[in-house]
Amino acid sequence: MTEADSAAFLDELRSHIGRAGKPETARDRVNQPMIRHWCDAMTDHNPVYTDEEFAVRSVHGRIVAPPSMLNVWTMRGNIPRRFDPDAPSSLALAALDGAGYTSVVATNSEHEYLRYLRPGDEISEVQSVTDVSDEKHTALGLGHFLSTATEYSNQEGEVVGRMNFRILKFKPGTGRTDSAENEENGEDEPRPLRPRPGISRDTEFFWSGLEAGELRIQQCTGCGRLYHPPMVRCTDCGGYEMGYQVASGKGTIYSFVEPCYPKLRSFDYPYVVGLVELEEGTRLVTNIVDIDPDKVAVGMPVELVMRKPDPDLTLPVFRPQRPQRRETTLCFDEIEVGEELAPCPVPITATLIVAGAIASRDYQDVHHDRDLAIERGSPDIFMNILTTSGLCGRYINDWAGPEALMRNLKIRLGAPNYPHDTMTMSASVVAKTEESGKGLVEVAIRGYNRSGDHVTGTTVLELPMEGESR
Ligand SMILES: [Zn+2]
Repeated sequence: MTEADSAAFLDELRSHIGRAGKPETARDRVNQPMIRHWCDAMTDHNPVYTDEEFAVRSVHGRIVAPPSMLNVWTMRGNIPRRFDPDAPSSLALAALDGAGYTSVVATNSEHEYLRYLRPGDEISEVQSVTDVSDEKHTALGLGHFLSTATEYSNQEGEVVGRMNFRILKFKPGTGRTDSAENEENGEDEPRPLRPRPGISRDTEFFWSGLEAGELRIQQCTGCGRLYHPPMVRCTDCGGYEMGYQVASGKGTIYSFVEPCYPKLRSFDYPYVVGLVELEEGTRLVTNIVDIDPDKVAVGMPVELVMRKPDPDLTLPVFRPQRPQRRETTLCFDEIEVGEELAPCPVPITATLIVAGAIASRDYQDVHHDRDLAIERGSPDIFMNILTTSGLCGRYINDWAGPEALMRNLKIRLGAPNYPHDTMTMSASVVAKTEESGKGLVEVAIRGYNRSGDHVTGTTVLELPMEGESR
C-alpha cells in the first residue's frame, strides 16, 4: 500500500467510529447449564452460582451467573459470524480482513457490572466502534487495534452491564519469531543438561519413585520412623529393614535461598532453592517454582509437582498451593490497603484452554485447534480472554468470599497462556472507599507465566460493612 492508500484505508476504518449497531439478542437466556459448564471449566466453586439452597439465603436471593460471563451470553458459538452491513464492527473487521490483517487476539477487556445476571434473563447487546489505531508493529505482527464499546440490557430494557473491548487484528507471519530472538542472544548452542543425581543402593527407591510419580520417604519397618535423606540404619530402634511411605506432596517452606551468581546455563532462572517441610515431618532440599522469587516466604504452603528438565530426569519441585476458598465473606473493615493475597498457581493445560473457550462459546480456532493455531503463527493453542477474566473472578472471590460483589473487572493481556506452562496469580488491595454506605475495595491483579505477565488489571468489589449479615 502507498502512503496515500493507507491513509485512505485508515479513513475508511475510522468512518465507523461512534456508530452503534442494531441490538443483537442472545441465542439462549441466561441458564444454569451454561453457568455450570463455566464453573467446571474455571474450577470456580462459589455456591452462589450453582447451589440453589445457598444462593437463596445469600445476598442475591437466588442463583446468579458469574459476573465475568457478561459477554458470554451473546457469543455466537460454533457458527460462522455472518457479515452484517449494518454493524459498524462487522464492517471494520471485514475491511481489516480484506487488507490482510486476518489474525486476531484480544488485548483488553473492561467489564462493568450493574446487576448480576440471573437464569431467565434475556440479554441483548448494542455494540459500537470507539477507536481504530494507526498500524502498529507489535511482537505478533503488523496490525491495528480495534476498540469497541458494548452495552448489555435484559428483556425489560434495563442496562445490566457494559464492556470496553480491544482486539489486535494483525497480518500473520509479520511478527518477531523466537528463532530470531535466539540468534540475537547467541543462544543457538545446545544447552548443557542439568547435573545428574548420584544414585546409590540406599537412595535408588527415591529416584525410581519419582519416575513412578511418587515422592517416597524412607521409613523404618521396625518402628515406623521417617528419614530424609535416607539412612542405612534406624537411629531409634537400630533396625536395618528400611521401606518407604509415599508423601502426600503437601508441605510448607522452612527456608529458602536464591543463588544468583554464577548463572549456569543448565538451570532455569529465576532459580530458588527451598527447604520444604513435608506434612509427614521430614524436610527436603528442592526448588520452589512458578512464583516470583520476591514473593517466596517462610511458612508458605506449597505442593509437589514433578518436573522433567530433560527426558531422562524427573525432579520433585514445589509451587504455592491454591489458596482455600473462603466460605464466609470478608467485611470491609477486615481489609487493609496494601494487603497481599496469597499467590495462586493455575496449571495451564490444553484441557483448561479448550474447556474455557467452549464454556465461553468462543470457537476461534486458535483456542482449540493446534494445527490451525500453528498455521496462524502461534506455537500452540492459547487461552482466550474470557477464560482469563473467569480465572481472575474466581481468584478474587475465593479470597473475598462468596457474597463479595464484583462491580467491575478491567484486564489487559500480555504474554499468552500456552499449554505446559503455569500462570501464577497474585493481587493486592490498592484502595478502599465508602460510597453511599457501601464499602468498596479496589484490588490490583497480576497473573504471570514463564514468558512474563499474562494479565494485569484491577477489580472493584463491594463488601458488607461490619455487622451487616451476609
Ligand atoms: Zn526404627
